[in-house]
Amino acid sequence: MRLTNIDASTRSQYLADDPPTIVPLAIKPHFEALNPQEQKYAHYISVAAFAGTRIVLRQVSPESEAIYDFIIALHADCGGDYATVRKHAGVSEEDMKHYLSYAAQFLGNAGNYKSFGDSKFIPKLSSEALEAIAGTSKKALVHFQKCEGSFYETKTTGGMHLGYPSAGHLSTYYPDSPDITREEIEYLAEFVRDQQLLPENTRIKELPSGDFALLIASATSDVADSDRDVKEKSWQLSGPLKGKSLKMVYGDHAVEMSKISEACKSAKEYAANDNESAMHEEYAKSFSTGSMNAHLDSQRHWIRDKGPQVECNIGFIETYRDPQGIRGEWEGFAAMVNKERTRAFSKLVESAPAQIPKLPWGKDFEKDKFLSPDFTSLEVLSFAGSGIPAGINIPNYDLIRQTEGFKNVSLGNVLSAKPPDEKVPFIRDEDQQMYQRCGTEAFEVQVGLHELLGHGCGKLLQETEKGVYNFDVKNPPVSPVTGKPIETWYKPGETWGSVFGGMGPSYEECRAECVAMALGCDFEILKIFGLGDGKEDIDGPAGDILYASYLSMARAGVTALQYWDPNSRKWGQAHMQARHAILQVFLSAGPEFCRLDYKDKSDDNTITDLTIHIDKTKIISHGRPAVEKFLQKLQVFKATADVKAGTDLYLGITDVNKWFAEKVRPEVLRRAQPRKVFVQANTFIEGDKVVLKEYPATAEGMIQSYVNRKYV
Ligand code: ZN
Repeated sequence: MRLTNIDASTRSQYLADDPPTIVPLAIKPHFEALNPQEQKYAHYISVAAFAGTRIVLRQVSPESEAIYDFIIALHADCGGDYATVRKHAGVSEEDMKHYLSYAAQFLGNAGNYKSFGDSKFIPKLSSEALEAIAGTSKKALVHFQKCEGSFYETKTTGGMHLGYPSAGHLSTYYPDSPDITREEIEYLAEFVRDQQLLPENTRIKELPSGDFALLIASATSDVADSDRDVKEKSWQLSGPLKGKSLKMVYGDHAVEMSKISEACKSAKEYAANDNESAMHEEYAKSFSTGSMNAHLDSQRHWIRDKGPQVECNIGFIETYRDPQGIRGEWEGFAAMVNKERTRAFSKLVESAPAQIPKLPWGKDFEKDKFLSPDFTSLEVLSFAGSGIPAGINIPNYDLIRQTEGFKNVSLGNVLSAKPPDEKVPFIRDEDQQMYQRCGTEAFEVQVGLHELLGHGCGKLLQETEKGVYNFDVKNPPVSPVTGKPIETWYKPGETWGSVFGGMGPSYEECRAECVAMALGCDFEILKIFGLGDGKEDIDGPAGDILYASYLSMARAGVTALQYWDPNSRKWGQAHMQARHAILQVFLSAGPEFCRLDYKDKSDDNTITDLTIHIDKTKIISHGRPAVEKFLQKLQVFKATADVKAGTDLYLGITDVNKWFAEKVRPEVLRRAQPRKVFVQANTFIEGDKVVLKEYPATAEGMIQSYVNRKYV
């Protein structure tokens, strides 16, 4: 057992979260609302998704698969009785807890590198204690011996991060190729693209001869000529790689691809329509033969399968972790519609013509006809991959996005998942109970308003082609901000993205969030969500939801400071920057409406016990007008392509002042909760039925859920 000598502070930066924030991915009522055919369909998709778990492990680090086997074998062997393991190992209770925390974080990230940030994490217990734990099970020990040197390996800080091997980082997208250079990877990427091959399901290996192999994920290693995306089997390279060759090698991840392909065939049996059936046919073909053309076709059927009861997507989808950014990580999910919420959302869209005029601009700044954006909110049954996103917008293939479309989905139970009964930082004690009770519903209202009306509303004033305007250029609309006729608009060829550039995405998120904050105050709208009777009643149930949503926005504006970098003075996350802007808007409405309370510690010049105070009775009188005033500017500057005024406004309000940077941010970092890991349910076929099993939101529950997935 080696423990390398790195200094304590460097090491502590890489310690596993202790404990990680373990949350349940609650699904039962939504799964049970499906009919038996839909349940079977969902079951086989889950199997297909999770059958790729080992691919994800292999895509993270060389040791992840053995660590996985070790964790699973130990649990299976002791039947989850860690008290006995502890006794036999002779380790402290604390050490056992550290081990379980590591195991939960490992499974939640499908490997020993964080899916958010791509840095390695190492167990908090000593290597001796871990060795003692492993020694309690013969079956676990076999796996442990394959990876024991890797748990704590911290020889180089470069190796603690994923990236190009030539920069000293780790990447298993280039397996067993320690000498492959970035230039070689880039050259091969271009070469593969020129052969009309999509790279998502590939890896590159440098062979001892210096030649290269293009590994293709497929169940079969001997693919029939008719099933290949290209005729060639190998190429002589030129340019900087002159004298070397590249050959296609099928059968990467063959065992898993075979299970996945079979599960897709089973899912096809229970498809609800022709698109679903054809989609799974193409999936099965793609995973069996490695054909990316088949995967493209699967995605074509997928976008045509509109609003299904059971939604899914499977494949090598997101390319964030390949340093070259072209190879996809394995991912698969099965999700279902939340019928009640879908109903509320469609009622909201239907009522849009009545709601949009309530926004602080006239019809000159609004589209003639409201077009609701493509948006569905789903509840996730299973999500295999290194982490679960809060929303997805796929396919990523530009070819399909540009001409055939895409789907935009938000994952409701991912967004709302929270640890049971845990005190929420920055919320006052007297608000905790209400916040716990109303938080989820408040968030639902906010998401619906943000996505459907927020992103859907507002017009861009354009000269669409030379001399042709989508507004009366002789009598330009009067800006409600200045009271004067507008002087700027989008010129031919200009778009929102080209004019507002890098600031655009966060600015637009802020506009959508402000719409949610403004219209969320409307009791008629709250009634659409089944809250209250439509009459203004701040003390009624709808009033509590409104209060919770204002508190939650203010809280997000505080915690947002984690995503602001004091060195570059830049924001790293568009939504969080937007929420900080809105917190500043709340604060600008005066301390009688919103303020932050704290204790000033004079000895070390820090603040503690930060809490948010919002006067519930002043949301309508103070909060809403402040939000509307700000929102009006955001909309008018956007509509008129006034990037100068827009930049001054937005970068001005999100410029973090000294007090927030030096006092609040450290307090936020101190109280930051570790990233969530999700405990997911399993489904089993029992006789003619599909049985759903959920697990406790604990490390043991998390491990048990993986142990029960025998097909992984
Ligand atoms: Zn948005």
